[in-house]
Amino acid sequence: MRALAPRDLELIRTQFAFPDRERIVANNAASTQPPLALFELLRDVSETYENVHRGQSDASIRTTEMFEASFDTVAAWINAPSRRSLSMHRGTTEAINAVMYSLMADFRDGDNVVTTLMEHNSNYVPWHALCREILPRFGRHVECRLARFDRETGELDLAHLASLVDDRTKLVCCTGGSNFLGTKPPLDRVREIADAGGYDQPDGHRGALLLVDAAQRFASTRLDVQAMDADFVAFSFHKLLAPFGVGVLYMRESLRSSLPPFLYGGDMIAEGQVYPDRVSYNDLPWKFSAGTPNILGVIASAQTLRLIVDLVGADAERAWFRSDDPLRPESVEAAMSIVTDHTSFLTQRAMDGLSSIPGLEIHGVPRGQERTPLVAFTVHGQSPFDVARALNAQGVESRAGCHCATLAHHELGLEASCRVSFALYNTPEDVDLVVSAVRRAVETPD
Ligand code: PLP
Repeated sequence: MRALAPRDLELIRTQFAFPDRERIVANNAASTQPPLALFELLRDVSETYENVHRGQSDASIRTTEMFEASFDTVAAWINAPSRRSLSMHRGTTEAINAVMYSLMADFRDGDNVVTTLMEHNSNYVPWHALCREILPRFGRHVECRLARFDRETGELDLAHLASLVDDRTKLVCCTGGSNFLGTKPPLDRVREIADAGGYDQPDGHRGALLLVDAAQRFASTRLDVQAMDADFVAFSFHKLLAPFGVGVLYMRESLRSSLPPFLYGGDMIAEGQVYPDRVSYNDLPWKFSAGTPNILGVIASAQTLRLIVDLVGADAERAWFRSDDPLRPESVEAAMSIVTDHTSFLTQRAMDGLSSIPGLEIHGVPRGQERTPLVAFTVHGQSPFDVARALNAQGVESRAGCHCATLAHHELGLEASCRVSFALYNTPEDVDLVVSAVRRAVETPD
């Protein structure tokens, strides 16, 4: 765990719109800031502005090539076997809903879905709605079960999770990293628990399917979907320097081939294969790409990943940004290990500083342990919203509320908390300024 060298950090910061320290951006778990180079990229891409898969012009072909190559870049980033296992969505939320809609017809009366009390609402509300509102209308009753976490340490209660999974558990849904408690559950153990369930899936597989909400994990850790051995992995690019509006659903290829699409319409159909009595779907991955996609967002997001490797200098011999070369998995691994080290260093520094403030309580994973790069806290007798406003008055951007981790807040008896969170471009000085701003807000409330 080590911070980037000050000179490297200063160079990185010149690539963003806040080099002058007027804003201390510490709300990165909500969304990170985009590098300036992306705006230039978008301007240049607009020179060949065209739709994809819908034209024979040079511009259309070039845009299609860039769009399709973006899938390869993302596949390399997460170590997916190929682009065939990917679909692009508006974000993690839509990606998880896509799983819900694709799987819906497969749920049998008496099945259950197991998720956890530490999920973002995106990985709970769809399952709640499926079980309580959607399937009952079709006369099917499916239970949504919730695994507990340890209130002191934020750890997922694996024994409780295991007790909830049985031979009618169709799906286990688990966060890859909590956006409130900081917990990174041991996904290998969660996989074992899902497998032990014994559900007979339609393709002959025994055990529950596993969906990982990797929105926060993606921001600070290399995602390796093969090592994770999940059936579905969802994440959003805006958590890691890319623009808003694009997220990814990795789905094991065998499932992609057999499950129905989430959206129906143009481009997801094999050319010419639409008749009054039948339609044939396009090859993967386009079977899951109905309608005009967010082309600029997808290209910019994939280019952001390449830029990150360049920004942290993990592969000094190559310039990946805007090159057409296939991204090397080793380069991704090296880049993300630098991001992990740096953001972990910042987070532990924040934990150390914040925990010395009287009356302040940090929630979730204790000091010194691995966590997502965020710290959520409450201050005895003070509203988290007042604390966040006092921070804003000092130039520190934070967030107060439930952060969509509403069930976990209820579990801890909290109505809200204040959260600070860090990214690649934050410096140790930023963290110190955040801590002293919190101290001031706590010691001299309005
Ligand atoms: N899951 C987690 C853990 C998150 O932190 C977030 C975003 O805050 C989401 C899901 C939802 O992501 P999006 O709003 O991009 O769909």
